[in-house]
Amino acid sequence: MSDYEQLLDKAFVLLPELSVEKADFKVPEPDVLIQGNKTIIKNISQIADTARRTKDEIAKYLTKELAAPITTDDQRLTILAKISTNTINEKIKRYFELYIICKECHKPDTHVQLVDRGYTTIVCEACGAKYTVKNS
Ligand SMILES: [Zn+2]
Repeated sequence: MSDYEQLLDKAFVLLPELSVEKADFKVPEPDVLIQGNKTIIKNISQIADTARRTKDEIAKYLTKELAAPITTDDQRLTILAKISTNTINEKIKRYFELYIICKECHKPDTHVQLVDRGYTTIVCEACGAKYTVKNS
């Protein structure tokens, strides 16, 4: 290998690949509508698709976090309480940080392997990392 080729090799290694990929993924912003004493997330299907989780899994998390009953239909998630848009945004962001985005490679390509005794085991399909999160 020539000196020049060795230099090229080095240059490739130094590319900050990870941070670029990390910046690509954005947590979807909930489309929140407050209607009387109800708070509706109008785009829960889109959020669930991005998270690759079911609406019910997200509903379960929000029920605990917000201490309010929740119903879902095809498109919408309805919280039977008045919750500020800011709080909803924070909870969704936290959900992604805790349960969706891989702690190792920061990609959202994870799935839940096991939920047991208050802990969720998450596996990353992109890098193979496996870790356990304590449920809130
Ligand atoms: Zn990963």
